[in-house]
Amino acid sequence: MICQSCGVEAETRYVSFHEIQGYLIVYRTKTLQAYLCRSCLRSYFWSMTSKTFCLGWWSTISFFVTPFLIVNNTVRYMLCLGQASVPDNSVRPEFDEEAWNRIKPHWNDLAARLNDGEKLEVVAPLIAERAGVSPGQVFLCVACISLMEEERNP
Ligand SMILES: [Zn+2]
Repeated sequence: MICQSCGVEAETRYVSFHEIQGYLIVYRTKTLQAYLCRSCLRSYFWSMTSKTFCLGWWSTISFFVTPFLIVNNTVRYMLCLGQASVPDNSVRPEFDEEAWNRIKPHWNDLAARLNDGEKLEVVAPLIAERAGVSPGQVFLCVACISLMEEERNP
């Protein structure tokens, strides 16, 4: 819905990519777990996998781990190949006063459905359509309100 890397509103997929770099006796690992748009997913796959491919072999432990991480990244990437590309007109959604005024009449319904355990990914497009905003704006609205709640009851 909203890419956790670039913030654009587009189809996202959950991925878990790993990177390892060996430095003779030590090694460094990096893990990325996020919902990403197609552009970010591709760029993280190529960057993390090529670094692992070039730098993973240079310590004893990472030497044995490297092939598994390359296979993991490649399989996860291939599972996402059907993902729709980011539309040209896609933008980072903004949650402003106008969006809040549109969502406000539907807020009680939205909150009740979320409290009943419905998923935001399912409820957001329905509320967005009724309120005349984008699903990304509903996501941001829920995020803002829950931040305010946390501040109120720390
Ligand atoms: Zn992105």
